[in-house]
Amino acid sequence: MEALVNKIKQDGRVLNQGVLKVDSFLTHQVDPLLMAQIGESFGEFFKEAGITKIVTVETSGIAPSIFAAKELDVPLIVARKSKSVTMDEELLTAPVYSFTKQETNQVSISKKFITDEDHILIIDDFLANGQAAKGLIELCEQAGATVAAVGIVIEKSFQEGRQLLEEMGVQVVSLARVASLEDNSVTFLEGDA
Ligand code: 5GP
Repeated sequence: MEALVNKIKQDGRVLNQGVLKVDSFLTHQVDPLLMAQIGESFGEFFKEAGITKIVTVETSGIAPSIFAAKELDVPLIVARKSKSVTMDEELLTAPVYSFTKQETNQVSISKKFITDEDHILIIDDFLANGQAAKGLIELCEQAGATVAAVGIVIEKSFQEGRQLLEEMGVQVVSLARVASLEDNSVTFLEGDA
């Protein structure tokens, strides 16, 4: 997605250890026009896929997902990283090792929001080693739902997430694919959409 790649080139910052900082438009300050374009790209790609719900994980997956959900006219479910006292229903939970926080959290969704009739699109801001997406896939599978695909805003293709998810039999669609963050600069592969 050209507008996204241009934005990363312009405003993305390479941190050490393979981390790309995009806090001026995606993970902290949010660019709503870019989020709307991202939603349109996912909407265009998945319009014939029979998606019934989108699942993301708090926090940075929410902004792009809400626009994708609007485009596909389906509800968005936000998996929670910490259990709130208001989550008093039966929960689906899965452990997720966080790449940026380097700790394991339980992610959860109330069981009532996903059924075995759902065909789910999982969306997240980044794909690194695939642990967040894998946890979300596990949650959907616990409910008996099928996962149509994982949609990613920025994939770091030099890490193993895509391979892990494809080996689980899940399609990965990434709007920007980063080939390398070496020498403090971002190089790209062709994106999927
Ligand atoms: P994974 O679970 O695929 O290893 O990592 C994906 C999660 O880690 C995303 O939800 C995202 O929050 C975070 N993450 C991974 N790599 C990066 C990165 O380079 N930059 C930022 N800002 N977040 C990242």
